[in-house]
This record gives sequence, C-alpha cells and structure tokens, in this order.
Amino acid sequence: MSLQLKLNMKRRSASSCPTQKRMYDSAILAEQALLDLQGRVDFRMGDGPVGVYKCDVCGAYHLTSAGPVNPLLASKLQDGKIARNREANRWLDKFKGRGH
Ligand SMILES: [Zn+2]
Repeated sequence: MSLQLKLNMKRRSASSCPTQKRMYDSAILAEQALLDLQGRVDFRMGDGPVGVYKCDVCGAYHLTSAGPVNPLLASKLQDGKIARNREANRWLDKFKGRGH
C-alpha cells in the first residue's frame, strides 16, 4: 500500500477533499443538493451538475457535470417541476430585493 493511499484513507472523515468539491455524506444528500441547485440556477442545457458519484479519495459523494443524468433529476426536468421551482425562486428573490 502506498503512503499516498494510506494518507487518503486516514483522511476519509476529514472535511475536505483534494478535488475541492463539496462533500455529501450520502448519495441521497448529494441528490437533494443536485435537485436544489438545478432548481435555483438556470443552467443551460448540458451545463451544471447532472449527477452524483462516490469519491474514491474521500469516500463522500460529489456532484458531477459529467456522465449520465441522474434519473431523479431527469424525471423532474421532464415533468416541469424544476421549471416551476425556478419561477418560485425568482419571485422570492424579487421579494427579498425589496429590503427592510
Ligand atoms: Zn472526494
């Protein structure tokens, strides 16, 4: 076993990953973050994160813009839920923008 690999295993529970990507404890949490992000940010077709994967280095889950589209995300995009979320968030932003 290489030293680098040992270090990586030791760091398994550390709060950062060499990929600099945001870490999620489970695939479900990552999936939720993916849907949330897609609901808030108006990514162009083919842009932005489309899936989640388990990282070999830190053992946590990250979002990725490569690979197949997450099935849950695909179905939400298809039934228009994401578009509706975007509209709702736009309204919320306007509301907040009025300031107190
Ligand atoms: Zn990682």
